[in-house]
Amino acid sequence: MTTAALSAELASAGLDVHSDRPLAPLTTYGVGGNGACVVKASSADQVVAVSEILRGHPEVETLVMGRGSNLLIADEGFDGLVVVMAPSPTENAVSVDGDIVEAGGAMLMPVLARRSVGASRGGLEWCVGIPGTVGGAVRMNAGGHGADMTSSVIDATVLSLRSGQIVRVSAEQLGFYFRGSALSGSHVVLSVRMKTAFQDSAIGTSEINAVVGWRREHQPGGRNAGSVFVNPGAGDESAGALIHAAGLRGFTIGAVSVSEKHANFIQAGEGSSAADVAAVMSHVQSTVEDVHGIRLYSEVCLVGFSADLMTRFSHPSHTSEAHVEAKEHLQSLLGEHA
Ligand SMILES: Cc1cc2nc3c(=O)[nH]c(=O)nc-3n(C[C@H](O)[C@H](O)[C@H](O)COP(=O)(O)OP(=O)(O)OC[C@H]3O[C@@H](n4cnc5c(N)ncnc54)[C@H](O)[C@@H]3O)c2cc1C
Repeated sequence: MTTAALSAELASAGLDVHSDRPLAPLTTYGVGGNGACVVKASSADQVVAVSEILRGHPEVETLVMGRGSNLLIADEGFDGLVVVMAPSPTENAVSVDGDIVEAGGAMLMPVLARRSVGASRGGLEWCVGIPGTVGGAVRMNAGGHGADMTSSVIDATVLSLRSGQIVRVSAEQLGFYFRGSALSGSHVVLSVRMKTAFQDSAIGTSEINAVVGWRREHQPGGRNAGSVFVNPGAGDESAGALIHAAGLRGFTIGAVSVSEKHANFIQAGEGSSAADVAAVMSHVQSTVEDVHGIRLYSEVCLVGFSADLMTRFSHPSHTSEAHVEAKEHLQSLLGEHA
């Protein structure tokens, strides 16, 4: 395996690394195979150390993981280096400078929301509903309750695992679009700075409680990755409404079902596989297209599946000229074209 030498070098640098490690427990779906080389990074220094060693192994593919709340990893796993971002106790606080709140890339979004409210900063209460990390939220341009990362991010400090360069990247250079950005698999968000406004903590706390209450009422618990399909364009119904109208609530393959509570959620029961999740997604996509003439695309990131399957679910905006240009610009900013 190409990653054996890499694992040995990471281990001898004192990093927490495992070969052939199950990735399922690191995701909210709880399915999928092993990562060939999985390293945990609890500080920016550790990510830098990983990048220094990785540069001797340019052939190895990379995957950065936060909380795994938007990832569907194939049963075959990922044959490359997985960098798992783990919050360290010392990096679990936000720093506040005037209207700006700064948080580490591994901080959980609900922690960001609560810490900001605790510091009397308003505007990030919606983040309490996103069960992922700040870095994952930047990459995905996560959003909800009428806001998203685009509306708050000033800039992010990003490390390229390929070049080792660390650059403060502006919101514009991050190339945000609906549930995505110009960041790719070799980019690690180390921290982000966001705009906020003064707000009494009591008001923030009640907004947080409202978001948490709304989520409990409208979304299922259990193993899922939130909304599976991106809402189609303006004027069309939401993906969930289209799936419901196609009679797909409760549709099941193996232990994997379309949620009865929220039609755009897919629930992975005990003993389910990534192949079954992908099969339910395929059935939903083709049935909705037959019934409504609208093609749905995945909001969840697929890892390790066949090229055909990835293309089938990949939103056309991923290959739009503007997106490709933004990606190339960011890669060059991070010294990846040298
Ligand atoms: C119950 C539930 C509800 C959800 N509701 C919402 C919602 O309302 N709105 C919404 O937008 N999403 C929602 N999600 C999806 C998910 O929580 C978000 O996309 C979240 O931002 C993903 O963060 P993560 O740390 O889990 O990323 P992961 O799932 O680990 O990774 C997602 C992507 O981000 C990349 N990534 C992760 N960390 C970093 C980093 N530090 N630097 C660079 N790239 C990184 C990964 O490579 C991958 O491409 C929901 C998920 C669940 C389970």
